[in-house]
Amino acid sequence: MAKKTVQPKKKTQSKKKAPIKKKVLRKTQVQQREEVKFTGQVTKVRQVRPATVIEWPRSITHLHTYGMLSPFFEGLKKGELRATRCPNSKCLENRLWIPPRAHCPDCHTEMIWKTLPNPVIGTIYTFTEVVYAGTGIELSTPYWQVDVEISGLATIPKSYLLYGKPHIGMKVKAEFRTKKPTNTVLDYYWVPYEP
Ligand SMILES: [Zn+2]
Repeated sequence: MAKKTVQPKKKTQSKKKAPIKKKVLRKTQVQQREEVKFTGQVTKVRQVRPATVIEWPRSITHLHTYGMLSPFFEGLKKGELRATRCPNSKCLENRLWIPPRAHCPDCHTEMIWKTLPNPVIGTIYTFTEVVYAGTGIELSTPYWQVDVEISGLATIPKSYLLYGKPHIGMKVKAEFRTKKPTNTVLDYYWVPYEP
């Protein structure tokens, strides 16, 4: 027994001396290398018995770029409705597009921008009452979703009526959430137009 205990001690001592130099080297290596780091928040443990239960929030931040359509959203913040148009004179579709397109759907030419003169008056083409909005729609329900015809547009864009009750053929005016913009397409909406 005595012999056995002595032998491992010697081994440990001899091993200890050698690793000291190695440790110094390792420290230098640690400073130079990029390590994977935990970037989240420490998970809260709710209970450990009879089994471990953690709280695992599932919310995420999704990074989304507006890309070449950014001028549309910058316009909304300034109270401007901006549309795109194909500059190709040979293209059969020369009307405006809202929602904007980066490239012409017909000839693939890069579109150019045009700001609609205020006030923008449109006509309700159709409408529907939204009682249960889809995920990501940050509007109180129920609300009226309206498809509005605007003169000079190739499209009939969807938006919502801020107040009032819609009917087909009703005149509406575009308004903008310029004071507290949401930086989304919700920054423009329609209100009943009474000239
Ligand atoms: Zn075109």
